[in-house]
Amino acid sequence: MSLPTSDDCPRTDGMPLLGLGTWENEDQAQCAESVKTALEMGYRHIDTAQIYGNEEGVGRGIAQADVSREDIFLATKVWIDELAPEDVKASTEESLDKLGVDYVDLLYVHWPAREYDPEATLAAFEELKEEGKIRRIGVSNFEPEQLETAQEILGDDVFANQVELHPLLPQHDLREYCDDNDIELVAYSPLARGDVFDVPELTAIADDHDASAAQVSLAWLREKGITAIPKATSEAHISDNWQSLDLDLTDAEFAAIDELNQTDRKVDPSFAPW
Ligand code: NAP
Repeated sequence: MSLPTSDDCPRTDGMPLLGLGTWENEDQAQCAESVKTALEMGYRHIDTAQIYGNEEGVGRGIAQADVSREDIFLATKVWIDELAPEDVKASTEESLDKLGVDYVDLLYVHWPAREYDPEATLAAFEELKEEGKIRRIGVSNFEPEQLETAQEILGDDVFANQVELHPLLPQHDLREYCDDNDIELVAYSPLARGDVFDVPELTAIADDHDASAAQVSLAWLREKGITAIPKATSEAHISDNWQSLDLDLTDAEFAAIDELNQTDRKVDPSFAPW
């Protein structure tokens, strides 16, 4: 059976709609192997963060893969302790160094928390963009209220908001806000950290297509124009998720998932803005 190619993955404003997440892929050698496997399979979007402790492994995987740097969409995130302007600059330099690249395609504010000061933090992100060290500015875990403030400061430069989003947490209000304001949504924990496999409505649809519940969740997101970054370590999982690009849901299946009507948040630290 042939796998989708990188050209089969839709893009939105240059960002591939399906990427590889790397949270908790902490062993540098394993992380490098997962990233290399994904890139050589066709993935072109890799998501990491300073706090994951694996930027070095991600960089090694990129270097080892038979794919040019400029063909890869690489994103990392500045941790909440590093959001004072001088720390944004210094920690990003450190990230570039660990990743072994001259720029990242997208740099996120990981959470609007601790050292986050909208004016000061975002000005430092703007400077990094002007210096060519980051291509786009993103935010993560922002609610409409924080997005509005960021837009007042950055205007159209708020490229994406990365948030938890999956069939058990459909984020209706945030989706509407981002649609209205032309902000891309990137869905983290798109498999509900593994819980999609326990939802009978999703496994029934999966069975009908001889697919997995992971693929059903990822196809549902893709058809909504939402980017997804499932984390997978083994080649089997990386490949299973990639094959979601070949899965098209029927209107009735799409509607059945929309109607699940759950609010089941998996990532909920005490410093979250909600
Ligand atoms: P996820 O992608 O929803 O689920 C990952 C889990 O599902 C892992 O245990 C993985 O196992 C398993 N898995 C993956 N593909 C599978 C498949 N096809 N079949 C069976 N099991 C499968 O959860 P996540 O890691 O929380 O989210 C994804 C990424 O989003 C993260 O890695 C990170 O890059 C990002 N994220 C960002 C934030 C933020 O605050 N911005 C927060 C959370 C996550 P294996 O590893 O064994 O393959």
